[in-house]
Amino acid sequence: MTQDEWWMQRALVWADYAAQQGEIPVGAILVHNGQELAQGWNQTVIQCDPSAHAEIVAVRQAAKQLNNYRLLDTTLYVTLEPCVMCAGALVHARVKRVVFGAYDPKTGATGSRFDVLRDLRHNHHIDCLGGVLAESCGARLKDFFRHKRLL
Ligand SMILES: [Zn+2]
Repeated sequence: MTQDEWWMQRALVWADYAAQQGEIPVGAILVHNGQELAQGWNQTVIQCDPSAHAEIVAVRQAAKQLNNYRLLDTTLYVTLEPCVMCAGALVHARVKRVVFGAYDPKTGATGSRFDVLRDLRHNHHIDCLGGVLAESCGARLKDFFRHKRLL
């Protein structure tokens, strides 16, 4: 198992937690100097907050932890390709690297539909790697929506 896969498994724990709470199963963790600094899981329904995506939750927690709104030298691991909102927040936070699991061909903003993280019009660019444990990450989403349809 690669280091990226190992961290992605940590993010998957939070995706599973989100599913247990009835939320779309997306999980994220933020790693700084080889240590897990913050975690996030999608909680838009519970918080009644359209911005409470896993990435935003993790970024907010990490910024408080570091007492710095710039998350320099951090890597964000997230089980689903970030959307436009999250990709924008990651650029503002100056995250160094983003690793995601499943691709989101409909609204993904990290290469699928938009490419916010690598848009040269920003003054900060983020290294990206997609498709890490993509099958496990995507299976959770498929199961969640399949189960929802059966309700
Ligand atoms: Zn998002």
